[in-house]
Amino acid sequence: MQRIRAWGAAAAGKPLAPMTIERREPGPHDVVLEILFCGVCHSDIHQARDEWSGALFPMVPGHEIVGRVTRLGGEISKFKVGDLAGVGCLVDSCRACAPCADGLEQFCAKGPALTYNGTEMDRKTLTYGGYSTEIVVDERYTLRIPAGLDPAAAAPLLCAGITTYSPLRQWGCKPGDRVGVVGLGGLGHMAVKLAASMGAKVTVLSTSGGKEADARRLGASDFAVTKGGAAFDRLAGKVDLVIDTVSAPHDYNAYLGLLRTRGAMVVVGAPTAPTPVHAFSLILGNRRLAGSMIGGIAETQEMLDHCAKHGIVSDIELIPIQKINEAYERVLKSDVRYRFVVDVASLRG
Ligand code: NAP
Ligand code: ZN
Ligand code: ZN
Repeated sequence: MQRIRAWGAAAAGKPLAPMTIERREPGPHDVVLEILFCGVCHSDIHQARDEWSGALFPMVPGHEIVGRVTRLGGEISKFKVGDLAGVGCLVDSCRACAPCADGLEQFCAKGPALTYNGTEMDRKTLTYGGYSTEIVVDERYTLRIPAGLDPAAAAPLLCAGITTYSPLRQWGCKPGDRVGVVGLGGLGHMAVKLAASMGAKVTVLSTSGGKEADARRLGASDFAVTKGGAAFDRLAGKVDLVIDTVSAPHDYNAYLGLLRTRGAMVVVGAPTAPTPVHAFSLILGNRRLAGSMIGGIAETQEMLDHCAKHGIVSDIELIPIQKINEAYERVLKSDVRYRFVVDVASLRG
């Protein structure tokens, strides 16, 4: 066991503060990463405040991790010392169930080992995330960071990137499709870049009128402010696919009305309270309402390779860990352009 520096929450809703955690010695299939950067996902806030209930403390959040390989187990084939590598939302799964065999490790029948706010597959050892100086992960759950991607700006791809790439692929996003992205935050801005890279025409639907220029710079060809409702009339029945990234409760029915016949709305944002859906929002037009959770390991690698090919990374604001509590408050006010990333050098000091 090694003791390393981290920042985390001692209990639900407590401000994040320095703490010490233990990481295992690497086994034959493990890679040890010196963590360089870790993105700040809105899910970190939901979980550190136990907004989805059942959270485990002490909690060290962070599941958008990019680091450098410093040590390797004896049977590693994918990495060598000095490589850049990434870790997303999962660090293990049973490897034997149907979802694991299908590359959907996030739905492992035994429950995946989440990167934090979870346990290893022994169901005892708490996992701790990327607001820390080092992590030890089985190479199967470790991603290659392609050359050419800026390591700090690539970190958010490990959650925000895959969470928006996967539903675009699942729903067959193709050139010329109109994709509506609801909410221009960490996930939303990645959805815009990724949908545009697949040839879609992107409309951003936002509560923040001030984000229009950014939306267009990120690749959207259309922008609509949702307050007031005029956008819902203008776009009614015109959108092929809606990706809803909003973190707070809101009316799904209004967005379902944007879909063309047989269009789909995919919910990826995870508000803490349920939202009623009117049957006629779905019946009229054979519309579909679906969800999507991150993506499997192979699809995450595919997304990283797609981003390298298209020169896509996140727009980030790099912060020292000492600013993390302030950053959480700013995320809650939609005041981030468009992802905070912790410079983990600030934990070493
Ligand atoms: P974020 O950066 O805070 O972005 C959320 C955006 O939603 C905001 O920028 C804002 O965009 C909009 N918004 C916020 N409050 C709103 C409200 N009351 N009404 C309407 N719009 C509102 O968060 P994120 O990191 O992208 O995460 C978004 C959500 O996805 C979170 O709930 C997170 O837990 C969840 N998530 C899910 C998965 C998954 O696997 N499904 C993975 C990662 C994260 P505008 O200013 O443009 O309106
Ligand atoms: Zn996340
Ligand atoms: Zn499994």
